[in-house]
Amino acid sequence: MPQRHLARAFPSAPKGRTPDTIRDVATTEPVIALTFDDGPHQTLTSQILDILDARQIKASFFVVGNRVAQAPDIVARIAQDGHEIGNHSWSHPRLGVMQDHDILDQIDRTAHAVAAVTGHSPVLMRPPYGDFNARRSQMLRAARDLPTILWSVDPQDWRRPGGMAIAEHMIAHARPGAVILAHDTVSQTLRNLPLALDTLLAQGYRFVTVSALIGWPEWTDRRNARGHAFG
Ligand SMILES: [Zn+2]
Repeated sequence: MPQRHLARAFPSAPKGRTPDTIRDVATTEPVIALTFDDGPHQTLTSQILDILDARQIKASFFVVGNRVAQAPDIVARIAQDGHEIGNHSWSHPRLGVMQDHDILDQIDRTAHAVAAVTGHSPVLMRPPYGDFNARRSQMLRAARDLPTILWSVDPQDWRRPGGMAIAEHMIAHARPGAVILAHDTVSQTLRNLPLALDTLLAQGYRFVTVSALIGWPEWTDRRNARGHAFG
């Protein structure tokens, strides 16, 4: 299908083997990946989608598997709107203290839940609380070809510091190649999100999915492109 899906998101997108763990990408181009964890949320996720849609911005949503079945229509819309869906485990446990087979069970159940709704499995994983380590990232990459996606900008919106503090943190810490962490389960995050996005857009930043940031095809094309089916 369309060439644009496989075209690099920006000329200096990383080439070569993708690292097992990614916090950001080295580039001088003004590209940012905005990410939302812990959804889908019954009301807030749709409001975020409206905010993004109004600005033609693509983001990445790391969903919790056991919430996918509760709001399949919202998950479907995330994909239909052209955003990325990543894997944020099945029940949001601390993966860093779990056995490998239990980690993979968390990941596989969520992958199947997302695939059941969208027809595609996530190609990226974000560990709840960032609780993972190099060995586990290597294990997950080898077993499921999923890189571990962390972040480089953290407004700590889950602490609910106020909508303006969240927006100001995003604006102050954004830089080329950054991965911004936010949560689509926190109402404060939405409050001044339009301001943060409009400010960064005015500064010349472009928002891309995490897959695009790391130089991959969009998540809905990656498995097909590599002829690799999730097992
Ligand atoms: Zn989380």
